[in-house]
Amino acid sequence: MKIIPPCGNDSKLIDGMIIILRHMDRKIIVLTLFISVAAVTILILGLKILFTKIANNYIKRNRDSLFKDVEERATKNKNDGIKLLKNISVYTEYIEELGINQEYECSSSIVANASNNHIKYLIKYSNIDSSEYCLECIDFCICFMNALKKFQANMKNLQVRISRRLPWFVRIFATKEAIPYMVCGVDYKLAEIENPEFSFLYVSPAGRSKRSCDIEITPNILKNIQAEISKKIERSGHSKLQRNAMTNDLREAIKKRDNYTCCICGNSIYKEPNLLLEVDHIIPISKGGKTEANNLQTLCWRCNRKKFTKSEPST
Ligand SMILES: [Zn+2]
Repeated sequence: MKIIPPCGNDSKLIDGMIIILRHMDRKIIVLTLFISVAAVTILILGLKILFTKIANNYIKRNRDSLFKDVEERATKNKNDGIKLLKNISVYTEYIEELGINQEYECSSSIVANASNNHIKYLIKYSNIDSSEYCLECIDFCICFMNALKKFQANMKNLQVRISRRLPWFVRIFATKEAIPYMVCGVDYKLAEIENPEFSFLYVSPAGRSKRSCDIEITPNILKNIQAEISKKIERSGHSKLQRNAMTNDLREAIKKRDNYTCCICGNSIYKEPNLLLEVDHIIPISKGGKTEANNLQTLCWRCNRKKFTKSEPST
């Protein structure tokens, strides 16, 4: 009796495949597998892009009705966004001018020192100086950054509210962060603006070792910089003002008030006719002293020099 193997055709097919596979190069098998996996991945990605497009289009098509559902908040956010977009070019210009968004190549010791004293080193190595103009630029940047942060948070809030009203398909595939921007009709680039960053970077001559101190420029950092340079401006402004206030008339009046007598040693032009008398700030200008009669005294040049060597020059 002849035994017919079950599913004779199938086993022949499998045998055939095994023979083909045996003859095939291993490399070809790997390549075929790789191509199949790649094809499936591309297909999935393609479908995802397609679905995202469909979902985003749904939102764009229904923008008006979605906007109406959250009208109060959406209107406010839209107006805020428009305002920010108007100011964005000035903001980027100021950031550029202040030089606080850059990679600064320097020695490794500067990198180390900068990490211990952000404010001082930022002022020293950026374009920031002690001018009123710089203060104003920084003021503008702080306002812009705070407004932007608030706006971005409001938009995220709005995103949650709008998402609740979307069909599941749209909710899953639409570009989530962009939803409120699409509904409000505000440029999505506002969501992508990040704080500037100043990097102190050291690269060794051979390029083998690198060290950096990256400082994110937050409104808080800018406020500290502002405080530091206002102090400097105040100091130099005060000093200029007080030095200008010292007129010849005032000098003469103080000497006359003190009866042409040194307030320290008591020497006077009556005792020494050629004695050189000077008018001195009791609290020096550099320490906040003012050019006012009650802060001025007559000193002979000797006593004034002695005071000078102890502290600093006076008028
Ligand atoms: Zn004296």
